[in-house]
Amino acid sequence: MPSSTWLSGFLDVKFNGALCATGDYDPELWTCTRDDTPLNRFKSYRRAAQAICHQCPAIRTCAVYALKHPELSGVWGGMLDEQRSELRRRISPVR
Ligand code: SF4
Repeated sequence: MPSSTWLSGFLDVKFNGALCATGDYDPELWTCTRDDTPLNRFKSYRRAAQAICHQCPAIRTCAVYALKHPELSGVWGGMLDEQRSELRRRISPVR
């Protein structure tokens, strides 16, 4: 199940102050996929997760961690997968 995998991986990281790990929010907000969620709900969940991330004291640590781990999916550090991919591409050294 994506959410439990994500959450167990996330809890291993243990970002101090992580709002998504408080138990106050449904992990699906961060982990739902287009394959398992109707499009409207998928979009609203992702927007909600990003809004929570932007209030999270761990956002910088989380974003840096997620940028270093391209295998991660879902919302991390307030960014969607495609946003992290784009940022990784922009900050990678030109070869
Ligand atoms: S920035 Fe978002 S995904 Fe990262 S720890 Fe905070 S709430 Fe969780």
